[in-house]
Amino acid sequence: MEANPKLVKSKLPIHNPEVGRIPPETIEQILASTDIVDLIGSYFPLKRSGSGFKINCPFHGEKTPSFNINPARQFYKCFGCDASGNALSFIMEYENLPFIDAVKKLADRAGITIIEEAHDPESDRKRRKISRIKELNNKAARFFHEQLLRSPDAEHARSYLKSRGFSKETTQKWLIGWAPRNSNLFLQIAREEGFTGREILQAGLGGLRNKEDSRSGLWVKFYDQLTFPINNDYGDVVGFSARILRADDKRGKYINTSDTPLFNKSKLLFALDKARRSMGKEKFALICEGQVDAIVLHECGFENTIAPLGTAFTEEHARMINRYTDRVVLCYDGDNAGLAAADKAFKQLTATGLPVKLMHLPDGDDPDTFIKTHGPEKFRTLLESAKDYFDAKLEKELPSINLSSAGERTKLLKDLGESVMVMSDDLLRDATIQNLAIRMRVGVDDFRQVVANAKKEKSRFRDNPRAADDTKIVVTPAPIDHVVAYLCHLALNSEAAAEYLIEQLESLNECLEEALGGHILLDILSKRPNPENTASRQAYLMTIPSEDRLALEKTFTDSVPDDPVASASDTVAMLSARFYQTKEKALRSLLNDPNLSSAEILTAFEEVKRLQSILKDLDQRF
Ligand code: ZN
Repeated sequence: MEANPKLVKSKLPIHNPEVGRIPPETIEQILASTDIVDLIGSYFPLKRSGSGFKINCPFHGEKTPSFNINPARQFYKCFGCDASGNALSFIMEYENLPFIDAVKKLADRAGITIIEEAHDPESDRKRRKISRIKELNNKAARFFHEQLLRSPDAEHARSYLKSRGFSKETTQKWLIGWAPRNSNLFLQIAREEGFTGREILQAGLGGLRNKEDSRSGLWVKFYDQLTFPINNDYGDVVGFSARILRADDKRGKYINTSDTPLFNKSKLLFALDKARRSMGKEKFALICEGQVDAIVLHECGFENTIAPLGTAFTEEHARMINRYTDRVVLCYDGDNAGLAAADKAFKQLTATGLPVKLMHLPDGDDPDTFIKTHGPEKFRTLLESAKDYFDAKLEKELPSINLSSAGERTKLLKDLGESVMVMSDDLLRDATIQNLAIRMRVGVDDFRQVVANAKKEKSRFRDNPRAADDTKIVVTPAPIDHVVAYLCHLALNSEAAAEYLIEQLESLNECLEEALGGHILLDILSKRPNPENTASRQAYLMTIPSEDRLALEKTFTDSVPDDPVASASDTVAMLSARFYQTKEKALRSLLNDPNLSSAEILTAFEEVKRLQSILKDLDQRF
């Protein structure tokens, strides 16, 4: 497919702690100091053509060059795909960089220091501090890498990498290193390079032995670990993720640099600097769970792979990805932890409007083990068959769920509702609601209600930050149909109404199984707490799940009607009528499905007839 640069996402300047507002004169100066022929020539061999140069267009596939570079006008134009622009737009498009970052890249290349408009001593100091942190991290990465390659004490680290199938080239490309067991070596090198103890602290690479005493000496964060440098978007090392190498090492398997102004796990994605271009070209990002998987995938040609650091996937991550690409495929482990992590990532990504697909590896496999066993081509096949997020999720979860159990279904519906709620694209959200309602065998309006309830819950938590605290388990009321809630209320408060409802159970069962909160009423009718006795009712309420209890709370203030049985009878009729109508409608729309076999059509048709006669009977009752 041809890339049309005009359709490439607009890469508006974003907030960046290192670059403030760049005055237009500086941009002019940068452009004046950049020769577009040199610039493009540093990426591709150029062919002379008249007064200018020609190359095969980097933005669309072609065999004969139609991409022209005009040195006099400092301009490029492709006659194949209409791409055109100056040095800055070339960097933005080809490197898939936002405006500010492209300016910075050209400025670095031209040796121009960017002086920001609003500058004051305080921000100067901050900037100096940040650039020292960066420098120290980059020096540390080189030092650890040298140690890995050459230290006689790093034999176990080298053989570990070899056992994982990392070649020397891979190790070099990713600047993988080994932090020496004797941490004094690192301190010594850092001091020789002119860094102070304070700077080592600020770079998150060590700590004070005694926090109260600045002269107590330093401990070093990384020792006898494999080090993976973590880069910012444009390739500077800003921290490390380090892995232990010995079975008796009591530290966590992976530890990261402590937070610094440059190292914030919620704002960094592993391999983004290397994946950025490919994410733009392929129009999607592949997100996996860990660094080793990301490296393996890159080395097998999946260069649009990125990974969060640790499991937390943040709003910031989603926004960063949205700047560089159009779609996302999640490749997470198929176990429960993996599914939960995928759920979290999906919610953040869909909130930015990015379409998300989910790919399934066989149980127990991660990308690394899968590719080692089956090869990269098999992985590509799986990737290409990745399904839309909800389809993939249901495919995975439905087989382990008993859909006719109202409890399990309600739980899954609520879970789905929470994910649908955050979708920012209205059309996509509505299509998803319709699709999920059919697959979950509920009415579209009922499911819409579930989504609306989830939304209400969320805003309630926003108003109450304590409830929103992720680390606390927050109980939300089970979704309940208001008609069902009223029947629960009658059953809990009137012996006669409860008796009546039990008589109706046989015909009620079908619609209660489907109705939201139906299981709550069924439970009340089977346990029969004594309506005359408040203590019995209270005791009963304490035995049911707290989300069910919360769902009933709303009805506690309702009054009991004079004739509870008549009310119950009217309510049951209303519930049944609605249930059979929804069911009949759903079946009739199912009949429009062209993929239905004739046997299926016949069954559905019989069912429609049965429902219509039930509805007619109900009609006669009014
Ligand atoms: Zn072109």
